[in-house]
Amino acid sequence: MSLYLVGGVVRDLLLRRENWDLDLTLEGDGIAFARLVADRYGAGLAVFERFATARLVLPNRLKIDIASTRRESYVKPAALPDVAAASLQEDLYRRDFTINAMAIQLNPATFGELHDPYGGQRDLKAKTIRVLHGGSFFDDPTRIFRAIRFTQRFGFSLEPSTRGLLEEAAATNLIQQLSGPRLCNEIFLLLGERDPRKPIKRLAFLRLLRFLHPRLRYTNKGERIVAVLPRALAWWKKQCPDHGVERPLVYLMAILSKAGPAVLRSVTQRLQLSSLQSKAVEWAGRRTDRLVQVLEQTKDMRPAQVYRLLADLPDDALVLLVAKGLAMRKVGGGHRLTRRLSRFLKHDRLATTILRGEDLKRLGLEPGPQFKTILDRLLDARLNGRVRTESDERAFVHRVAQKPG
Ligand code: ATP
Repeated sequence: MSLYLVGGVVRDLLLRRENWDLDLTLEGDGIAFARLVADRYGAGLAVFERFATARLVLPNRLKIDIASTRRESYVKPAALPDVAAASLQEDLYRRDFTINAMAIQLNPATFGELHDPYGGQRDLKAKTIRVLHGGSFFDDPTRIFRAIRFTQRFGFSLEPSTRGLLEEAAATNLIQQLSGPRLCNEIFLLLGERDPRKPIKRLAFLRLLRFLHPRLRYTNKGERIVAVLPRALAWWKKQCPDHGVERPLVYLMAILSKAGPAVLRSVTQRLQLSSLQSKAVEWAGRRTDRLVQVLEQTKDMRPAQVYRLLADLPDDALVLLVAKGLAMRKVGGGHRLTRRLSRFLKHDRLATTILRGEDLKRLGLEPGPQFKTILDRLLDARLNGRVRTESDERAFVHRVAQKPG
């Protein structure tokens, strides 16, 4: 049987970019081969019979995907294809772009031999993204997003006739037919690129945001926020290294900056976002503009007031708020907002009281809902600098307990 390393990892080898997404393809029974390898090397094995593929997880945790060489035919555009066994050449022909349609043989006698029937090396050298045939984007419109993603990542250009085909496909309603999870996956991969600002512009230029919602526009305001989002994310990472945010989701929120509640809900439904993601997107839409206004325009605010406004905001929405502040700084405003956000994120966000419910009991207070009120007031006092030590806290609790409310 002939065994090959195939697709993106071959492209990245030739570009000398690191890539541990190892895809193998076999002229023969890929699943049977995967079973043998799993036995021989003590690897974990997951078999996906429906797709005739398998995934090995080696003891060192390296993952390897194994498939059989196959041809695909698209009965309906944008639907999943019918699959049949085929030669390597046919397998490469079903792929998206020439640079992703190369294979390296792994059998010992021919180890390292490169198979490049469609000019992948030529296009890598020319820094070009080129489809393998004219129907490519119609067969699978996710390739529209993939093309945009690869041009950005590698700094490549679309070969002119590929550009024409892409624009033609983008002007149809094909993408509309993609299921929510497939569309979401492509959008999130695109927004997850190291710097997705240009791809977002490209999406807007090709009017592809209409597939999120027909009324969605990439407004100047959205663009200004997206422009500073890399800085906001870097700042967040520095201030809150233990709180990772979902970068693609934050970019999506920024794109949706001007959208109203109905559009936001419809986008979260179209992409079938999880309930947590949907909540973050809808909150961000509903609340961040109002928060910007209050935090920027209110003259005197105690730290505890700022804390109460921001404490229950999801991390992704906080990053968006930081970006909105930075965008305002660019046009001469946003000083109060960024100062208050900075203090909240650096100091106050994780503040806690020294005394807990148990301590209140020990101080002789009757447990009940008033505990929460007392502890909230205690935290506010700490944030505002009115209590510092444990004995300050005890004295404060005594005072509050004597005159509740
Ligand atoms: P990335 O580096 O973003 O993971 P990739 O191309 O390396 O991209 P995958 O998306 O896992 O990795 O795809 C692996 C290979 O499978 C591709 O290089 C390409 O040969 C093929 N492929 C993936 N998606 C498609 C598609 N929509 N149409 C045709 N071929 C595809």
